[in-house]
Amino acid sequence: MTDRKDLGMKKKRKSPVKTCPECQQECHARLASCKKCGFVFYKKKKRFIDDWKSLQVGDYIRVIGRSGSYYIRENGEKIYFTDAGIYKVREIVNNGLVVVGHGKNSHGFGFIYMGHEKRSRLLDSVYNSPHKLASVSLKRKGES
Ligand SMILES: [Zn+2]
Repeated sequence: MTDRKDLGMKKKRKSPVKTCPECQQECHARLASCKKCGFVFYKKKKRFIDDWKSLQVGDYIRVIGRSGSYYIRENGEKIYFTDAGIYKVREIVNNGLVVVGHGKNSHGFGFIYMGHEKRSRLLDSVYNSPHKLASVSLKRKGES
């Protein structure tokens, strides 16, 4: 066992900062805009995946929260089945992706439905709905 957690903590301790040219506020280097005055350092890239069929086995995807198949409770609240997070594509099928979770909060196999929104044939309160996906750039582990 290696102390991967400890290494991660050490890296985080030193947080790089940059100074806002508008208000001189010190902001974390990775912030897209100034937390004080809203000055835009750079435009955030949102790399949504429009064409999920272009994905390949082995690709990583991020499932955006509050998307995908859901269940409607009696009080009208929507409960989503798929947890937001990073998944690895294992298989591409007709109406979606077979994935395996990647990371602490998402593990195990799952199915990412990508077909048209429709009511489940099994249960009235369940709807199959396409997930929103974003592409992921992962730092490869073990290559440092
Ligand atoms: Zn500022």
